[in-house]
Amino acid sequence: MLPLITDREFIKQQAEKLEEENDTFRSFLKILNGDELDIKVHELNETISPQIDCTVCGACCRQLMINVTEGEKINVATALNITPQKFKEDYLEESMEGKLIINTIPCHFLADSKCSIYANRFTECRAFPHLHENNFKGRLFGTLIHYAMCPIIFNVIEQLKVEVEFKN
Ligand code: SF4
Ligand code: SF4
Repeated sequence: MLPLITDREFIKQQAEKLEEENDTFRSFLKILNGDELDIKVHELNETISPQIDCTVCGACCRQLMINVTEGEKINVATALNITPQKFKEDYLEESMEGKLIINTIPCHFLADSKCSIYANRFTECRAFPHLHENNFKGRLFGTLIHYAMCPIIFNVIEQLKVEVEFKN
């Protein structure tokens, strides 16, 4: 395994430096078997993810737009001891597609790089960066967009290059 990199400044610089390489890597991955690729990515994610402390990063909470379901609106409002209507007024807005989203970036609930509603955080927060899910190939573009931001994605992608013997 490559040594784990968590320095976000270094990752940002690497992302700029490797932009072309990552475009080529994306095309290279498209010709590989999607199911086999999913297995590899799941394994890498299971190894790498637990070694990265999201509570000292919080970058996704600072940069992503978070969708909220009706059920989550009610759950979090209950946890905060306010009405769903008040929760909506204070924390949500409707996206162009008419979906509920958190009305600030960074997210309201981020405090000192930690989620203040962690036990009740939204499905989208739990799922990011989606590397445990199937169809990695179908989400390549979105995953690589966050390569510079998310140390988990960065390390999984760099190790994946080694595992699939990618040569730029
Ligand atoms: S709800 Fe919590 S985990 Fe989700 S974006 Fe906000 S601070 Fe981050
Ligand atoms: S950007 Fe990635 S490493 Fe950072 S908190 Fe989010 S999921 Fe964790």
